[in-house]
Amino acid sequence: MTSLTSLTLTEARDGLRAKKFSARELAGAHLKAMEEARGLNAFVLETPEHAQQMAGQSDQRLKKGDARPLEGIPLAVKDLYCTEGVRTTACSKILENFIPAYESTVTGNLWRDGAVMLGKTNMDEFAMGSSNEASAFGPVQSPWRRKGSNAPLVPGGSSGGSATAVAARLAPAAIGTDTGGSIRQPAAFTGTVGMKPTYGRCSRWGIVAFASSLDQAGPFARTIKDAAVLLRSMAGHDAKDSTSADVKVPDFEKAVGKSVKGMKIGIPKEYRVPAMPAEIEKLWAQGAEWLKKAGAELVDISLPHTRYALPAYYIVAPAEASSNLARYDGVRYGLSVPGHDITELYQKTRAAGFGREVRRRVLIGTYVLSAGYYDAYYLRAQKVRTLIKRDFEQAFAQGIDAVLTPTTPSAAFAIGEKSGADPVEMYLNDVFTVTVNMAGLPGISVPAGLDGGGLPLGLQLIGKPFDEETLFSLGHVIEQAAGKFQPEKWWAA
Ligand code: GLN
Repeated sequence: MTSLTSLTLTEARDGLRAKKFSARELAGAHLKAMEEARGLNAFVLETPEHAQQMAGQSDQRLKKGDARPLEGIPLAVKDLYCTEGVRTTACSKILENFIPAYESTVTGNLWRDGAVMLGKTNMDEFAMGSSNEASAFGPVQSPWRRKGSNAPLVPGGSSGGSATAVAARLAPAAIGTDTGGSIRQPAAFTGTVGMKPTYGRCSRWGIVAFASSLDQAGPFARTIKDAAVLLRSMAGHDAKDSTSADVKVPDFEKAVGKSVKGMKIGIPKEYRVPAMPAEIEKLWAQGAEWLKKAGAELVDISLPHTRYALPAYYIVAPAEASSNLARYDGVRYGLSVPGHDITELYQKTRAAGFGREVRRRVLIGTYVLSAGYYDAYYLRAQKVRTLIKRDFEQAFAQGIDAVLTPTTPSAAFAIGEKSGADPVEMYLNDVFTVTVNMAGLPGISVPAGLDGGGLPLGLQLIGKPFDEETLFSLGHVIEQAAGKFQPEKWWAA
């Protein structure tokens, strides 16, 4: 029998139902793999008691033939999701030892469907970052290494722990969040599938807020089919989130394997950025070729406002973050550093509790929202956002079904390589992903190949609002053609 940790989500689901192994055995195998992989720092909290107890319940349901959609499936949860009675920190010192009294809607949906919680995963503090180096718990190490080198690489961010857990086979699947690329970029860096659904597809209730108009929950998995199954359980309308959409949740799994014949795929010329490695350019052309062979039609399109997306994102996201993070005042949650009056308590708590990148975002956000600068920065960025959205709408109005781009402008880089004095170096990682959040569209990153150093690269598919199904169908074509990619195990306890 293949080892239990090498099973995909749907293989595990089917194996459990066929009684080939129990949910407790499946959870136990993953908990053991997590212990052996502690050096990767993917988890900031392991929850073995929860896992075994939930798996025990699943075994009873399985025995009765009463299995729910994710019965007994172990999952890793980004530490941005509030989990009732289980420490949730957003990987910030300011939420040190915060134990929520409630469960996020998305995690609640997963437990309702029978999933088993393995633990909470590492991430950039408050989901601000592209490398998982900005975590109060220290960086995550990617399970991948460049050929001939032992230099530790970043897994991408901000959902670096979830991506690593899935790539290193510590969990068959995981959940993350994506505000500007935090699911798709780490998915590309780790050779996993990651989807940011349409804004409103999943409830944001109970997810620690970063930039509320951009934040969206989404799945990580090792196959397209697994991501589709997981998303179905995560999604759905929630009266507790006024931005969650009251639309039907399709059976996404059915879209996997569906023909893409006759679909029109837009290739936007603006995503051909200077200094992009030739390997990425080549992979992009290869991906287009695979889709064409499957019967899709390639169409050159223009999304003219793409070049303004990154600067506009880095105004809108910090602006929303600065107001969302105002609640961490030393009174209501987590860390509290006393002062001689309330103002000093605020100042001392926030200075001690927020890391460097979070402080930078709060400063930028406060600045662009301040009287006198509001029109010049925030309002202008909002107008740019409308134009970016309109670019996509025009492409879709011309009959384009989905857009194909690279996910990232490079493969994974070394820990420390881009975390120096200039934050823009890190921000540039997001050039291909932020447009999708600005426009509220669904996007998926599909593993598509390896670079010369043997590191994974991803291709991104961008779809129409609430048309994740087309992305799963197209993603499956790329997956079939490209094959799967997994790192060699070099870590040990
Ligand atoms: N890297 C981007 C940022 O730092 C996106 C992060 C995210 O999607 N949460 O803002």
